[in-house]
Amino acid sequence: MVGIKASFVLRNLKRVNGEAIDIVIVNGYIVAVTEAGDSVGDRIVDCSGTYISSGWIDMHVHAFPDFDPYGDEIDEIGIKQGVTTIVDAGSCGADRIAELAASRAHARTNVLAFLNVSRLGLARMDELSNLEWIDAVKALQAVKEFGEFIVGLKARISRSVVNGRGIAPLRLARALSHQAALPLMVHIGSGPPSIEEVIPHLGKKDIITHYLNGKSNNLFDAEGKPLVVLVNAIARGVHLDVGHGSASFSFAVAESAKRHNIGLNTISTDIYRGNRLNGPVYSMANVLTKFLYLGYSLEEVIAAVTTSAAQWLEKPVLGRIQVGDLANLTLFTIRNESTTLVDSEGELRITDQIIEAKGVVINGEFIECEIRT
Ligand code: ZN
Ligand code: ZN
Repeated sequence: MVGIKASFVLRNLKRVNGEAIDIVIVNGYIVAVTEAGDSVGDRIVDCSGTYISSGWIDMHVHAFPDFDPYGDEIDEIGIKQGVTTIVDAGSCGADRIAELAASRAHARTNVLAFLNVSRLGLARMDELSNLEWIDAVKALQAVKEFGEFIVGLKARISRSVVNGRGIAPLRLARALSHQAALPLMVHIGSGPPSIEEVIPHLGKKDIITHYLNGKSNNLFDAEGKPLVVLVNAIARGVHLDVGHGSASFSFAVAESAKRHNIGLNTISTDIYRGNRLNGPVYSMANVLTKFLYLGYSLEEVIAAVTTSAAQWLEKPVLGRIQVGDLANLTLFTIRNESTTLVDSEGELRITDQIIEAKGVVINGEFIECEIRT
């Protein structure tokens, strides 16, 4: 990665609405956004053929490298993917959250986090199978200490995680979220507990992650119609997050969701070493390509990793390109080439348009991406 600091002009960029612009960056800040070709400066970067958006935000990643399999290096799943802000989805509970917070000092990607309600986090795979691990005192202490960093709580409510405890862990997580005054992100998957038992506990601003999973306990019936609990949750203001992951994104379910106008709030990867290197996630751009394939417009797809995520995070500055802001931007292209896409079920789709991340401006510094093809 070669960084350009200080002052430069990104020339001939295209916004997703088709508008052609230059962006002038001085000392890391956006000082002008002009019509394409109108800007002058010492260092001009010709970006012809490249799209620009505010920096991509990935709402569900695993950024704590110590944990295996659900861990990875921050910048590998951040700026090298075109993602300027990652939100770790509960890798750590109260026991290790201080280490995750400290690790930001050694990375360039912006990092936020959901705190796992289990103090163990993903140190083990059944972190909610013992209710004593949901230590409210320790969790609230962590929330107090890392208020700027922790954006919500995380609870994985599926069979192997709760291991016979039903919705008891969810009830404790719900109570903790009220005490902490933070929303709750709930991972859904195989039951028990059944999805009908889980979803009614979620309210406005809470997040269902893995909402397009293809497991038998998912949010759509056999004909692909959304379940009543899902329709009601959307009416209450529950936020839907993709969280693709190794096992949680089904083309068939995503096609049903599209057909019934369910979603799209945020697109996230649930990326970690294994599914980055071996698929089916690979990269944020690959996941975005799948939504372009599904028939969402480029504007809708990019909004799901910019404005929509920024709005949920209540950090509007992350979702806009505006004079006066510290520059956090993503540069990308769309290549017309036939490629086979694979979901978490091993189902294939053939697309003829591929989104590729080309670079980022991260807190004012321009860095070109290493592209994996
Ligand atoms: Zn999950
Ligand atoms: Zn995850």
